[in-house]
Amino acid sequence: MPCILFDFGGTLDSDGTTWLERFLGIYEALGVPCPRPRFDRAFYDSDDNLPSRFRLKGLSLEQTLDLQARCVLESLAPERADLGPEAARRFLEDSRASFRRVRPVLERLSAGHRLGIVSNFYGNLDSVLASEGLRDLFGFVADSGVLGVTKPEPAIFQKALAGLGCGPEEAVMVGDSVPRDMKGAEGLGMRHVLVGDLARPACCPQALRVASVTDLEKVLSPAPLRAGIIAAGDGSRLKASHPGLIKPLVPVAGRPLCHWVVDSLLQAGVADFTVLFNSRGRRAQESLLAAFPRLRWTFLERDTASSWESFRLVAQSLAEKSADFVISTVDAIMPPAETRRFAEAARAAGAPAALALTGFVDDEKPLWADLGPDGRVAALGGDARTRTHATSGLYYLTADVARAMPPAQAFARLREYLQSLAAAGSVAGVVLSQTLDVDRPEDVRQAEDFLTALGS
Ligand SMILES: [Mg+2]
Repeated sequence: MPCILFDFGGTLDSDGTTWLERFLGIYEALGVPCPRPRFDRAFYDSDDNLPSRFRLKGLSLEQTLDLQARCVLESLAPERADLGPEAARRFLEDSRASFRRVRPVLERLSAGHRLGIVSNFYGNLDSVLASEGLRDLFGFVADSGVLGVTKPEPAIFQKALAGLGCGPEEAVMVGDSVPRDMKGAEGLGMRHVLVGDLARPACCPQALRVASVTDLEKVLSPAPLRAGIIAAGDGSRLKASHPGLIKPLVPVAGRPLCHWVVDSLLQAGVADFTVLFNSRGRRAQESLLAAFPRLRWTFLERDTASSWESFRLVAQSLAEKSADFVISTVDAIMPPAETRRFAEAARAAGAPAALALTGFVDDEKPLWADLGPDGRVAALGGDARTRTHATSGLYYLTADVARAMPPAQAFARLREYLQSLAAAGSVAGVVLSQTLDVDRPEDVRQAEDFLTALGS
């Protein structure tokens, strides 16, 4: 069963606001002067030394907050020490409001996931959670104060994963801190969800984003995704090595190329496929139906004039059935986990369209892409300057974009259409690890090595 690891402070007790920022707002509202470097010093001094000044074992959240506030006021404004309990009370109330919102979400998620916590805390997170009625939701609590290792060190995440009986590849880390939560998870190859202000810079283009843990289900278990596959090209560069065989049926490691693409999308959660073949594609249709009899299929047959016309046809067909979808070319080979990550990240990016990008470019005519700091594709093709990423045959579109597509004769090639979308700032970029295009005989051998290495 997959697992979800949560940070505690700023993640479960607020929507991405740290304890320091929350306490600062409370003290200011109470009229305590909080000049900035001094307040930060008083806060961190209290935070760092709490476990050595007091015996915290077994203390509740309320008791812990009382001590935290008392220590801050002692050094910041000793004459207002009487305000400590009120500051702690307000903080506790805010936290409880957040727990009430988050708890039903955690309960639903716990039906299909093991839940755990990874927190840089004081060593008493167990009793803090128990005091708020939350402890029973989590199979393992990794508290740095108990374990002696802190985020982002890998060891604290590994303890939690071992405690839950889960590998990093089937886990996701949810937290509000880029350096501690996101970087720590990234280091172990774990998926990660950043909580808080969606305009804040993320750690990497792979990060999923939510404004609050209450939105987590939207990115982790969203509506089922439909997919289109463009299998209408003639595969001219494979004709000499595979005479009489259309491209979707070219064997790669013993299976037709089109089966690999379906398999990868299937593992990304797709169960409904729309596939475009040309008029010579009947045998490939039969092959897909025989290999995947339980999936829902829509087959389109058309001898299109260009990659753009094929893309447009598939997109507009899918737009009749779905609010959003992915489209793959039949020759795009990538690890199933990466296909899934693309679909999730593309949806979470909130852009009308998204392109899968790769830094591994071995193509005769790559479509280069510049990725901006906001995760959007800033330039494509001839306008791209960095030449560090190229598109890799996997696309995400919303139905609105598909319905607004210009007529088939508007562009000669798909890349011209994509350039026009990118120029309008409408395209997110999702960087994937190695992906392959099977265009040439040598690509077939490379794809076989690649799939063998993946253990397929
Ligand atoms: Mg936090």
